[in-house]
Amino acid sequence: LAIIQELGDAIRERQLILHFQPKVNLASGAVVGFEALVRWQHPRLGLLGPGAFIPLAEVGDLMQGVTRNVIELALAQLRQWGDAGLPYTMAINLSPRNLLERDFVANFEHALVRSGADPKRVELELTETALMQDPEGAAKRLERIVELGVRISIDDFGTGYSSLAHLRRLPIHALKIDQLFVTEMATNAQDLAIVRSTIGLGRNLGLEVVAEGVETAQVMEMLGELDCDIAQGYVLSPPKPWPAISEWLAGDAKKWLKHEPR
Ligand code: C2E
Ligand code: MG
Ligand code: MG
Repeated sequence: LAIIQELGDAIRERQLILHFQPKVNLASGAVVGFEALVRWQHPRLGLLGPGAFIPLAEVGDLMQGVTRNVIELALAQLRQWGDAGLPYTMAINLSPRNLLERDFVANFEHALVRSGADPKRVELELTETALMQDPEGAAKRLERIVELGVRISIDDFGTGYSSLAHLRRLPIHALKIDQLFVTEMATNAQDLAIVRSTIGLGRNLGLEVVAEGVETAQVMEMLGELDCDIAQGYVLSPPKPWPAISEWLAGDAKKWLKHEPR
């Protein structure tokens, strides 16, 4: 209860910050964009990860405030990249309840316009659960979001309870294969089978396929051979604040490039 109360203050006092984790194109080795992951810079407890407060925010009805802060911070950063000539995309996570909020799309559009960020570089990540709670309402809202030029990804794909019959009617651009299947795919034959089939499914539906939780160069290489589009994971970089990611871009990021940029 104390944490829920403090979180309300944290939202108002801007203690929530973003870390960014890179996504790399497996064919070229180039960084295509980043996922924004929220952290709470708590005055007493230090840096808290989302697992420590998002579940509380969900029960305490604070997720609207958290998401509003996250969207504002992420779009401001995206605008800065654009101004600096950096062509990266920004992926923003939504909680299932966010899409059910009556005024979500209008608020989001407002934030987007106010930020001056390029909508085509914004991706919203939603889980299967979020899309299945009110399938028709979700579909209508997604259509409106997509009309703004924004892309939609299904996060943690394979761990939820969605039906393909329903998913195929939604305006989705990408599938993110959950780390549960990816992390050990080099040694676990079942995981490998799931990853291979999911890449095939995504391909056949014309979706971009992202693998999350890539922890080794071996898995990175296997994903490239399986024709997966994009990798994200600790082997590339853990999520970090932007200054640290800038350093990573100038150094370690280059070792994944398959050919020198022209
Ligand atoms: P997610 O969206 O699936 O994000 C990926 C999570 O996997 C992140 O954890 C990331 O640090 C972690 N990860 C990345 N690479 C690896 C890897 O190679 N191995 C392993 N084992 N893990 C890896 P994080 O930042 O703790 O976030 C956890 C979850 O919290 C996110 O899962 C997302 O569902 C939620 N979350 C994070 N930020 C936000 C936010 O701004 N809004 C909302 N609604 N949810 C958020
Ligand atoms: Mg995500
Ligand atoms: Mg995920």
